[in-house]
Amino acid sequence: SLSDRLASTFKNLRGKGRLSEADVDATVREIRRALLDADVAVSVVREFTAHVRERALSEEVSAALNPGQQVVKIVNDELVRILGGETRRIRLAKNPPTVIMLAGLQGAGKTTLAGKLSKWLKGQGHSPILVAADLQRPNAVTQLQVNGQRAGVPVFAPHPGVQSDFEEVTGDPVTVARDGVAEARAKLHDVVIVDTAGRLGIDAEMMQQAADIRAAVNPDEVLFVIDAMIGQDAVNTAQAFNEGVDFTGVVLSKLDGDARGGAALSVASVTGKPVMFASTGESLDDFEIFHPDRMANRILDMGDILSLIEQAEKSWDKGEAERMAKKFADQEDFTLEDFLAQMQQIRKMGSMKKMLTMMPGAAGMRQQLENFDEREIDRVEAIVRSMTPHERLAPKIINGSRRARIARGSGVHVSEVNGLLERFGQAQKMMKKMAQGGGIPGMPGMAG
Ligand code: GDP
Ligand code: MG
Repeated sequence: SLSDRLASTFKNLRGKGRLSEADVDATVREIRRALLDADVAVSVVREFTAHVRERALSEEVSAALNPGQQVVKIVNDELVRILGGETRRIRLAKNPPTVIMLAGLQGAGKTTLAGKLSKWLKGQGHSPILVAADLQRPNAVTQLQVNGQRAGVPVFAPHPGVQSDFEEVTGDPVTVARDGVAEARAKLHDVVIVDTAGRLGIDAEMMQQAADIRAAVNPDEVLFVIDAMIGQDAVNTAQAFNEGVDFTGVVLSKLDGDARGGAALSVASVTGKPVMFASTGESLDDFEIFHPDRMANRILDMGDILSLIEQAEKSWDKGEAERMAKKFADQEDFTLEDFLAQMQQIRKMGSMKKMLTMMPGAAGMRQQLENFDEREIDRVEAIVRSMTPHERLAPKIINGSRRARIARGSGVHVSEVNGLLERFGQAQKMMKKMAQGGGIPGMPGMAG
């Protein structure tokens, strides 16, 4: 996957004091492949990687960052920049109503978005109205009316009552849009959302109609709605709408599917227009303000692997690790004291769950993550603390009555003491094997 690939590329860079041109090229190749996998358009990938390469080679490697991190930072910065930098809010008109026009192919999610956007705006204290300027499909008006009803927002539609499934709506969408805005002004709505028609493909007639509506209502925002799953076609579609209606912002719909966000990057890159919102499902509440930095993370989908590794390295006590290594070299026994020390090392590395969620490809580990109980470390600690020093060094002497005493002392059931001793026994065996192999011990306490 994209995440694994980037993570392993970046891992290879880690620890290098200096990046050679070959290092940079190898990394750039991986980034290119990763972005193509994420369905970013080929032309966009080419431009993006060329830019990253140039920066990676020309920039001085700062003392604070290692070269691998430097490249990650460059990639991340570039992604955020292309996606629009800061989150872009809706520009409200000085003299209300603010007019928002929606444009995009049929099925992109415009009518659904109209409902979502109106509900969200209402929640923000606005009093929006929806305008049904899609007269292309027989049920387009009804669909908007249903969404309006769900959102608790009125809908301006042509010839109320005339439309049915069998009868096409008549009327001129440009006139309807203009009348809708007039209605908003008359009824003191401060935001008007104009839903328009799309076609399955880019079509001169449709584009002309959208351009005519734009000219008639003079919108403050023209939002281009695009299906995030569209893939390589995103570029052509976005370019056509950019030329046809000169949109001001992008809404990425159906981001709840498998889409990895490649379309966001393609559209933003070829049009220079910011992505403003994301649609993430069929219900009216599946709507999000788009955050470029979060999307950059999603595209990279690598969590914060480098800081994770660093955190682990920092917390893992060098002295402790060396002490452990020496113990093995000297063929000393791995005791419960050591077991506890290792547990404490793990705790120092921070919340285990948080660490696991920070890891790339953590999806596959989610089940284990759910099963992992951090209180387990607390229980182990309590149990070991309830042992006498002699018991900790020589756990073999812990018989039935000692177990009962330890359980009472640590407030757990005897079976938990038994479980711990059993896990410890396994860990001890594992450590012995590792010692024979000369390896530095891992985290045997977590094996159970
Ligand atoms: P329009 O032709 O551009 O107005 O598109 P619609 O709003 O009618 O949406 C087309 C289809 O996509 C409908 O079945 C919607 O329920 C569905 N849809 C719209 N937005 C989303 C979304 O964010 N996620 C999912 N899963 N489906 C969506
Ligand atoms: Mg529609």
